[in-house]
Amino acid sequence: METTGIDSLAISIGNAHGFYKGAPKLQFELLAEIAQRCALPLVLHGGTGIPDADIRHAISMGIAKVNVGTEIRKAYVNALYQYTRENEKGDVRPFIKALRASVAGAAARYLENFTAPSLCSGAKEDEHGKSGS
Ligand SMILES: [Zn+2]
Repeated sequence: METTGIDSLAISIGNAHGFYKGAPKLQFELLAEIAQRCALPLVLHGGTGIPDADIRHAISMGIAKVNVGTEIRKAYVNALYQYTRENEKGDVRPFIKALRASVAGAAARYLENFTAPSLCSGAKEDEHGKSGS
């Protein structure tokens, strides 16, 4: 891994992109083995739908970043449908505001549940991450 120049490592331990058909079952033994052998920050893609307790457990074992793009996109699409249902001739400004509020709410749930309080203080509502999914 040193020769690759990567600065984080996304791992596959039972996680997957998109919506899970059943409850995802993370392989914590495998995570423990990877965390022991890898000094790099570990990334978990497919965080949407993984139970909160499992995410907390994975973080405690070395996961430094959890990707939840599906959850964010779902919040956006839900707000889009709800707004257009309720506002047939709406102005674009409140429309954008409703979408932003929905996405911010979905993101805030993760920040509040999975970020150490010391890291969360000082976070601004309008800051956007640049991570893909
Ligand atoms: Zn991803």
